[in-house]
Amino acid sequence: MGDGPTDPAEIGEQDAPPVSEKPYKVIFEANKCIGAGKCAEVSDNWSLSLETGIAQPTAYFLSAAELDENVRAAEVCPAKKDRGVIHVIDRETGEEIAPDPEGDGTVSVDW
Ligand code: SF4
Repeated sequence: MGDGPTDPAEIGEQDAPPVSEKPYKVIFEANKCIGAGKCAEVSDNWSLSLETGIAQPTAYFLSAAELDENVRAAEVCPAKKDRGVIHVIDRETGEEIAPDPEGDGTVSVDW
């Protein structure tokens, strides 16, 4: 990566599984999680850590079969005034599938 602004499509791509197997990934703003636990209610990929009091995903790279539950987790997350801190990204396009508060695929991570 160069000196330019962070490209969301590049996050975590070192040592990543092939896009054909795991077309989606999670970017998690852990420092903004308020520990409400809604994500864990709707997705097996998310749990609350008793140690830290914040959520953690089991997997950061997602198959098509894992997409829906993680989209639900992203959509129910109330942190950041309901904008959410779980971001589900299409690795092919680099666009945000959920929660996508801008409605245009812009990645809504506060870098
Ligand atoms: S729903 Fe959002 S704020 Fe609540 S625990 Fe999950 S990631 Fe954190």
